[in-house]
Amino acid sequence: MTIAPITSHLDRWADAKPDARAVSYGDIDYSWSRFRARVHANAAAQCATGIEPGDRIAFLDKNNLTCLETTLGAALTGAANAVINFRLSAAEIGYIINDAQAKIVIVGPEFAELVDGLRASLPTVQRVIVTGGDDDEYEAWLAAGSEAFEPVAFDPDTCFLQLYTSGTTGHPKGAMLTHRSLDAHNAAAVAGFNFTADSVNMVAMPLFHVGGSSWSLAGISVGAQTVVVREVVPTAVLDEIEARGVTHAFFVPAVYGFFLAEPRVADRDYSRVRCLGYGGSPMPLPTMRACLQTWPRADFYQVYGMTEMSGVFSVLGPDDHRDAAHPERLVSAGRPLPGTTVKVVDSDGNTLPVGEVGEFWTQSQQHMLGYWGRPEATAEALVGDDWLRTGDAGRMDDGGYLFISDRVKDMIISGGENVYPAEVERVVIEHAAVADVAVIGVPDDKWGETVKAVVVLVDGASVTEAELIVHCRAQLAGYKTPKSVDFLSELPRNPTGKVLKREIRKKYWEGRTLHT
Ligand code: ATP
Ligand code: MG
Repeated sequence: MTIAPITSHLDRWADAKPDARAVSYGDIDYSWSRFRARVHANAAAQCATGIEPGDRIAFLDKNNLTCLETTLGAALTGAANAVINFRLSAAEIGYIINDAQAKIVIVGPEFAELVDGLRASLPTVQRVIVTGGDDDEYEAWLAAGSEAFEPVAFDPDTCFLQLYTSGTTGHPKGAMLTHRSLDAHNAAAVAGFNFTADSVNMVAMPLFHVGGSSWSLAGISVGAQTVVVREVVPTAVLDEIEARGVTHAFFVPAVYGFFLAEPRVADRDYSRVRCLGYGGSPMPLPTMRACLQTWPRADFYQVYGMTEMSGVFSVLGPDDHRDAAHPERLVSAGRPLPGTTVKVVDSDGNTLPVGEVGEFWTQSQQHMLGYWGRPEATAEALVGDDWLRTGDAGRMDDGGYLFISDRVKDMIISGGENVYPAEVERVVIEHAAVADVAVIGVPDDKWGETVKAVVVLVDGASVTEAELIVHCRAQLAGYKTPKSVDFLSELPRNPTGKVLKREIRKKYWEGRTLHT
């Protein structure tokens, strides 16, 4: 299989339709020829600033077109754009800039002061460039680097985009994504979501995440128009979907929740919307049902992906959402996209029969090259005959549909029985008084661990521990039913919105080592 350099798509579309809209951002619209020229200027500016193949540039801002320009520019210079989660704390951001060994940092005005404050502790950083704002140094940098540059010789296994995992189970790790891995992802995503050169692709997920960066590259690869949204303000995003005639968009389940809470959500013209993707974490069934009612003409796609896979690798498509013969598949993560094989294995790596729960392993060209600067973690993740351990537990049904149970690391073993917290959480959340829940294992002398539900109540509602246990027992086996319930005002979440179970567990596991 020949692998297309990512920037070959820019060349193709800039030649085929130079004046058509390539990318939009707020008031900005760039044609394909203008966008290509800006990417080339970015690459030239990188060279003029001393960036060499293998170097890292750190990018820290809310979504910004200049992030895409930097990623594509890096693909020409042999460097990589390490996009940082701007919601992290200053210490965490410093950690990632140093982890990436970034030579330059491109930063939005809102974060410039933060980077200034860190500067003394960032030994590899030679230059900080502010993008946007009154003193737009980025534009001056582009202009100064306008002389010709020599693109680096093409190697499909060069990383040009380094995205960090969300840090749900430990420190974020820098997954090195390459021409090969993203080319495979582009092909899978284009086929899976029916992107065409006429699509208008909204990129509202953060560009520090595959759901933003890889999703945008998939659209660019087929000549779709990309609409980058700086940040998700629900009313503004819904307005923009209508005004720009968006055909494709992807949001995490929580954002659909925000949309549905918007009073005028149904009053807009969504007639051009074709594909609405969701995923990244489980979608509560009531939210899904409300979405199907609100956008009856759109096709919903559930997306299962991860940073190490360059993005999505399994999809529950529109037909599956309407498949009356298999309603249970609505909570599945669909079937692997072309190019990816998934198997379910036990803790020794042996393939399990259909229906049994184990860890998902994938075989795919979409695999990351490895974790930047972490040979040990890479060796743990990429194993044997080109398999990637996802760290997710689940099962596959006889039609090849994947049902994610939970993280392998979150599994509770109670009296020798495996309990997947997500299954228990789905039952607890159905109680009308429950607004949010996390289920964890807590130490128990008799059973090793027992199941505990940590619950946030709906404002003004009340329910007792005993009532919640009765509610669960009606639907769950005894060993899965929480033995205890604690109430919290809020669950700790990482900046991506994922519940930090390791934080919740800490209190109960002090001095013990079963879970880290
Ligand atoms: P870390 O690897 O640092 O602990 P993370 O795994 O949360 O963080 P990401 O790569 O952003 O980092 O997220 C991928 C994970 O998100 C998957 O491994 C899976 O656990 C979860 N996930 C993704 N899509 C879905 C989905 N559709 N339904 C349920 N969970 C999902
Ligand atoms: Mg992970």
